[in-house]
Parts: sequence; structure tokens; C-alpha cells
Amino acid sequence: MKAECTEHIRCLIIGSGPAGYTAAIYVARAGLKPVMYTGVEPGGQLTQTTDVDNFPGYPQGILGPALMDDLRMQAERFGTDIRFGSVSAVDFSLRPHKVIIDETKSVTADTIIVSTGATAKWLSVPGEQQYSGFGVSVCAVCDGFFFKGQDVAIVGGGDTAAEEASYLAKLCKKVYMIVRRAEFSASKVMISSVLNASNIEVVYNSETKEILGDGKNVTAVKILNNKTWEEKELPVNGLFVAIGHKPNTDIFKGWLDMDEIGYLKTIPGSAKTNVEGVFAAGDVQDRHYRQAVTAAASGCMAALDAERYLAAKEAAPNAKTRTIFSVKTKKGWFDKDSPQNLTYKEAGIRGFFVVCMPALAAIDWNFHTHTMFFIAPFIMYLAVSALTMTCPVKELFSRRNKSDSQEL
Ligand SMILES: Cc1cc2nc3c(=O)[nH]c(=O)nc-3n(C[C@H](O)[C@H](O)[C@H](O)COP(=O)(O)OP(=O)(O)OC[C@H]3O[C@@H](n4cnc5c(N)ncnc54)[C@H](O)[C@@H]3O)c2cc1C
Repeated sequence: MKAECTEHIRCLIIGSGPAGYTAAIYVARAGLKPVMYTGVEPGGQLTQTTDVDNFPGYPQGILGPALMDDLRMQAERFGTDIRFGSVSAVDFSLRPHKVIIDETKSVTADTIIVSTGATAKWLSVPGEQQYSGFGVSVCAVCDGFFFKGQDVAIVGGGDTAAEEASYLAKLCKKVYMIVRRAEFSASKVMISSVLNASNIEVVYNSETKEILGDGKNVTAVKILNNKTWEEKELPVNGLFVAIGHKPNTDIFKGWLDMDEIGYLKTIPGSAKTNVEGVFAAGDVQDRHYRQAVTAAASGCMAALDAERYLAAKEAAPNAKTRTIFSVKTKKGWFDKDSPQNLTYKEAGIRGFFVVCMPALAAIDWNFHTHTMFFIAPFIMYLAVSALTMTCPVKELFSRRNKSDSQEL
């Protein structure tokens, strides 16, 4: 990371989808002058689609690019500095955090909101690009409604594909589920819901070769059976690609906690990542919902968390927020900054009472002095209060580390 540092930013937003723009609106309105780097796809995934019918506030629906233009203008109205450029590397080892833009420029930031989204995997077959938004979709929840009462196909054999097939079966006349292998890779419960739906036909051992249309809309999908080498066309009006997403998190590997696919982990009920001052919003941290409105909502959460973080830092600039212990409860790990965590001082005091006082009592007992009658109740009081303030004693001295934080 050799680029020379040229600028310090209070709140840096990485990514310009619904999550990034919403975060920008909130942070800018709080007077924190956010800087946003858009990445190579200004406006995010919705710029790839036509009609968006499910974003609140647009009773007649809106085109994806137009919706993103509205969000951009709203963010700019409050003073967001929107710049074209991509983050190519980060260094979260020190504070403020260091970020490299386009491998050339280096900036530092007090807080960072990561909203880099997740990229849907496409089939890369003829017709796919041409009919994207005109019959080809990567989101059944978003676009299934447009195919009400019609015949559609869905490609994929995993949990998402099975879930989306069941969703489509409730709207569409017939759903072909095109599965590459002789079996599903979905979970048993998902498979049984697919197999129990009377209007889903599973087409095993089949690969999608081409998406056919009339120049405007999809009319059929050409598939090849990889056992018999037989080719056939399924007459459909829509094709849903459900073969997975790739979260855009490569640049954060080694810094931010991720799940096995690469989605960022946040502390439940917040946008906080495992690194202080770094927050995550939108699809990049959400493998379940992946909707524009949920991305926007988590952008709001990230902005409020960032604002509060900055306010706390600025109110007590020298406060020692670092904790040596994180406390585990049934609900998971407390946040690093949680007052229920132990600071060095608190740990020292509790350690003294929990360890030293029984030792003193033992000495006292040994020498048959009567003071134990005074000390014993005091020790019990301290021990009970120390334990009830936190958690079971075996968890008390657990130190949070990478593998522990998997439980976040
Ligand atoms: C074709 C299609 C149709 C859809 N239709 C609907 C719909 O009708 N309704 C609905 O609710 N949802 C729909 N979705 C899903 C919706 O688009 C996403 O849930 C939503 O866009 C996620 O928002 P986001 O802000 O998290 O990320 P994204 O929209 O994915 O935006 C990510 C942003 O991060 C930027 N970025 C990535 N890497 C970097 C980097 N290194 N540096 C800087 N910036 C970076 C990108 O350029 C982009 O601007 C659709 C998705 C697709 C693909």
C-alpha cells in the first residue's frame, strides 16, 4: 500500500446502490459530509433492470435506473460528495482506516460504510443479455409477479432455486426447474416443497444452452440433456437464473469477518463489523433477502451506527474503548463497545475480588480469627454481584477471537 495519503474523510461510503445512497442521505443530513466512491456500476444492480414494482413510494412502479437517479439526487441534495472510482485495497490495522482508490490514491477515514453489494451469477448463454429485463431475471421475488398465470423456467438446484421455484409456483401456471445434475443440492425441506407442488416439473441432468425470443420478449429456453444428449425447447415467457451470488468482498478478506461464501458478518441488530468504525449495509451482508428496500433500510442502520460512533469518539476522544474481554451470553457476543464488556480496569477489580478475597478468607480461616464472620458475607456479596453482572463464570474469561466471532 504505497499510494501517498492525500485526504482525510470523516465518513467514507463504498458503493452506490440503494444501501450506499440511503446511508449517504442520513450521514449527509447529519452534517458529516460523506464521500462516496461509486464503483464501476454507479447506481448498483437496479441499473440492470427495467420495472421495479416493489420499492415503496412509487405506486405506478419505476424503472430501475430512474429509481437510482432519484436516490443519487437525494443524496447530493444534502451534500454527499459522489466520486467515480473503486476501492482497490484497505488497511484496517490502524485508526483512522486507510483506503486505496483505483490503486493510485490513498485516503484515510474515521468511519467506513461498506455497501459493495453482491453480484448475481449469470449463465453466459446466448440470449441471456439480450432478454435481461425482458423475460430473463435473477430475482423471482422481484420479477415473478410480472409472469402471473404464465409458464416460466428456473435454473438451479440449490436452496435459493428451490425457494424461488416454490414462490413462482404460487404465481405462475407452470414452472420448469432446470437442474444440471441427477439430484438437487438443496436441503430436504426445500426439495420436498418443490416436489409437492403440482405445477413444478423438475428437469434433471439438463443444461441451459440458449434463451430464445421474438426480439422483444422470451418465448422459449433451449436445454440439453447431459446424459442422453437430447436437445429440446421448453416454451416459457420467463427464465429465472438462480445459480448463486458472489458478494463483492475480496478487498476485505483478512480484515472483515465473513461467512463461507464471503458475505460480511455484522453484529445482529446493528451494522457493525468486527472492525471498530467499519459498518456494512445492503446485499454485501445479507444472503437471505437481497432486496432494494432491505438494502436501503440497512444503509440507514449503518449511517446511524456511524454517526453514533463518531459522536461517542468526539465526545470522549481519549476514552479507552478497547476491551480485553468480550462477554458471551445466550444471545451471542456483546458488542466490543458494550458497557457490559470488561475493560482492563474492570477486569482487574473483579479479578481481585473473585480471586483474592476467597484467598484472604482461607487465610483468615486458617488462623481462626473471628474476622471471617465479617469478611465471608462481604465476599459472597461481591462474588454474586460480579457473576450476575456478566454471565456464567466459564464464559467470563473467554477472549473474543476470529473463530469465536463466527457466532455473531
Ligand atoms: C436484474 C436485477 C433486478 C432486480 N430487481 C429488483 C426489484 O425489482 N426489486 C428489488 O427490491 N430488488 C431487485 N433486485 C435486487 C436489488 O437490486 C439489490 O438487492 C440491491 O441493489 C442491493 O443494493 P446494495 O446497495 O446492497 O448493492 P448494489 O445495488 O449491488 O450496489 C453495489 C455498489 O457497490 C459498488 N462497488 C462494488 N465494489 C466496489 C468497490 N470495490 N469500490 C467501490 N464501489 C464498489 C458497485 O459499483 C455498486 O454501485 C434486482 C437485482 C437484479 C440484479
